[in-house]
Amino acid sequence: MSDSDCLFCKIIAGEIPSEKVYEDDTTYAFKDINPKARVHVLIVPRAHYANVAELATGDAGQLAHMVEVAQRIADDEFHGAYRLIFNTGLDAGQSVFHVHAHVLTGEKLDE
Ligand code: 5GP
Ligand code: ZN
Repeated sequence: MSDSDCLFCKIIAGEIPSEKVYEDDTTYAFKDINPKARVHVLIVPRAHYANVAELATGDAGQLAHMVEVAQRIADDEFHGAYRLIFNTGLDAGQSVFHVHAHVLTGEKLDE
């Protein structure tokens, strides 16, 4: 399932360029265009789900896999330390309605 108007579906399809960090059959990870930490990566499932709650209900294994990918990136970048954020809903700052995990790592983060 994909959404022809979805920015992240277009990035996953290669229709919009991105800086790839990781990919496999189900999952794609790329650098955020406006980084909030030295390393700021977005992890997305290839399948289109609007937000993390829909993903948790529809494919909990995919959600767990995204956490594994985040861990792998942080193991490579910053001895396994990272912050994982899912903005959910407009009023929480979600601007792209294709579920994505923000991975912030690569430096000591502010509390
Ligand atoms: P949200 O606000 O939905 O939680 O996060 C969306 C994220 O996508 C933002 O951090 C924003 O910087 C990033 N973003 C928006 N458009 C693009 C783009 O075209 N390419 C990349 N790499 N990141 C984008
Ligand atoms: Zn999408």
